[in-house]
Amino acid sequence: MRAAARLAAKTFPHPSPLPEGEGTNRSILHDNMIDVLHVPAFHDNYIWLIRAGNRVAVVDPGDAEPVMQALQRHALQPAAVLCTHHHADHVGGAAALASRWGIPVYGPAQEPIPAVDRPVDEGDTVDLPELGLSFSVLFTPGHTRGHIAYYGHGLLFCGDTLFAAGCGRLFEGTAAQLHASLSRLAALPGDTRLYCGHEYTAANLRFAQTVEPDNPDVRARAEHVRQRRAQDLPSLPSTIALELRTNPFLRTASPTVQRAAETHAGTALASQTEIFTSLRRWKDGFQG
Ligand SMILES: [Zn+2]
Repeated sequence: MRAAARLAAKTFPHPSPLPEGEGTNRSILHDNMIDVLHVPAFHDNYIWLIRAGNRVAVVDPGDAEPVMQALQRHALQPAAVLCTHHHADHVGGAAALASRWGIPVYGPAQEPIPAVDRPVDEGDTVDLPELGLSFSVLFTPGHTRGHIAYYGHGLLFCGDTLFAAGCGRLFEGTAAQLHASLSRLAALPGDTRLYCGHEYTAANLRFAQTVEPDNPDVRARAEHVRQRRAQDLPSLPSTIALELRTNPFLRTASPTVQRAAETHAGTALASQTEIFTSLRRWKDGFQG
């Protein structure tokens, strides 16, 4: 176990961004240690490697090349690819990894992704016997119309639906759909560790501070993330508990968030969905 920890620390600066008491980054399961390693891609994407022993599941490989390099460097062997939605920066490397390694590619049944040969949908389970793990598939539309998330072992891989301190843009779905998807994820256990598709946290927190300037948790998190990013470390994973305290898109029930959204919209907002819709629109035009 110590060797594994060294390996993770050496080339993948292992994320430990959670304030004290928020949990750790590792789980012990079936006498195996599960690690989640990050592979940066493009400008601000993260490709996640769920590792048990020397086997990994690759989540949202927008680019095969950095994944291949990481696998080779650490003598890891992929067992499967998991995709959350069809955008190229999440699936662009899936076909190359599948053909190189002969591994299955799981992805949303309701989106056309040529590389996906194991379409999955709400209620399905992705079994990864090579890792001794299985994940439930959650249907989380809004960012795209068929977006899915993978949940299991206290880990959530949610693509571009829920971001740390923010949420995905509405490309194909409605605000009501995305709000419902986020509410569902928000109901997961508080210590669930959340791995999303992009490093957007600092910018998201600037918006969160604009919505809730007096929220001490948002302020503390912004400082914590600033320090992490100054060292070129990921701001992730987050936890559901931390999101509930700091993510305005999960805080539509807060009177402060409601007031801010109403002030920005210039009108009273009758429901949490309306508050969410107003926040999403506000953030779309926000220059933080
Ligand atoms: Zn996307």
